[in-house]
Amino acid sequence: MEHDPTRMCELLVGLPDVNVNGVGEWPHWLRIEITRRAGRPVCEGCGGGVHDHGRRDVVLVDLPVFGRPARLVWAKQRWRCPNPDCEVGTWTELDERIAPARAAITDRAGRWATFQVGRHGRSVAEVADDLGCDWHTIMDAVIWFGTPLVDDPHRFGDVTALGLDETLFCRQGRWRRRCWSTQIVDVARGQLLDIVAGRDTAGPCGWLAERPQEWRDGIRWATLDLSGPYRSVFDTMLPDAVQVADAFHVVKLANTALDEVRRRVQNETLGHRGRKDDPLYRCRRKLLMADERLDDTARSKLLGLLAAGDPKGEVRMAWHAKEVVRSIYTIDDPELGAEFVERLGQDLQDESCPPEVQRLGRTITTWRHQIAAWHRSRVSNGPTEAINNLVKRVKRVAFGIVNFRNYRIRSLLYAGKPNWSLLNP
Ligand SMILES: [Zn+2]
Repeated sequence: MEHDPTRMCELLVGLPDVNVNGVGEWPHWLRIEITRRAGRPVCEGCGGGVHDHGRRDVVLVDLPVFGRPARLVWAKQRWRCPNPDCEVGTWTELDERIAPARAAITDRAGRWATFQVGRHGRSVAEVADDLGCDWHTIMDAVIWFGTPLVDDPHRFGDVTALGLDETLFCRQGRWRRRCWSTQIVDVARGQLLDIVAGRDTAGPCGWLAERPQEWRDGIRWATLDLSGPYRSVFDTMLPDAVQVADAFHVVKLANTALDEVRRRVQNETLGHRGRKDDPLYRCRRKLLMADERLDDTARSKLLGLLAAGDPKGEVRMAWHAKEVVRSIYTIDDPELGAEFVERLGQDLQDESCPPEVQRLGRTITTWRHQIAAWHRSRVSNGPTEAINNLVKRVKRVAFGIVNFRNYRIRSLLYAGKPNWSLLNP
């Protein structure tokens, strides 16, 4: 137990080699004035003696003290080299244990803010509010303390299944132009490896080219949505990896075809877009539901609505097509799976099918090897979708992040599984 008032104060402030010279109240913050206990240095340039050049107050955002926002006012010692041949001139003392050079926030407050934003996914504005400071101070701290965590060479090791997935990261400018990015994910572990700008081949190719050859050789499976650019990324950069079409996207494609048929038939039979009493509009959600989730009442209701609103049975066919596409993923045997996908692609292209379903059949035929590869690999972008949801959360709390660098670092802190123990050594 300490009873000396000076020592008590130093204990409360809790910084190494620091004198607490005063504590006062500012309108919004508690003001704590400190100086560093340090001997007179020698000049870094010439090694000679130095002259005292006065002190300068630097105000730093610190952690709240007993629930009150605080500012640490550090009277920084300035030094001057008297040697006329020395280029150093004047400088200000530095102590990274208190605050990084040129920072507006203390080391401990910056690390705390990085943890709040990165680990808990809180918004920068919210954390800034906790510390009673502005948004930029916190964002700068997250970049300063978060970058080493994100760039940590041990953040991810060998990867056996790599996935690429596009995400919309913001809308920019007067026309709300959409800005895309590509997520690179370890789909076996569900870890976000990195985010690159754009959804073309350049970003992911460049990223993969920076990895060592052995690392790339370790990748056995490469998952993708059904998009040409990502296929060519894998064709060029990971030629030996087996490409796997993501199950989620295949089913989504079937759902889209079903939706398109329903809207067209709606328009052809009633001449307007769906209204709440139209049979096809009323069954739109039931159509997209997995068949096994429909109970008998729901199914007979659905069939009744289809009988009323779908005279040529086109919606019904698209509905069946969707269910058959879903059943791809119930097959256990890889050979049966490959045969099934091959047949399905051809069957859906039959002239008796609605044009939207025929197009679905052509897509399935084009991607049949990638779709059937699922039965051997059992990997999917499922984890990627989970990561997408995490990243969407980051975007939502930030009300749309416009700066790509901020978006990348915050997403990687949140979904990239950084080693958080590096933040508090
Ligand atoms: Zn000097």
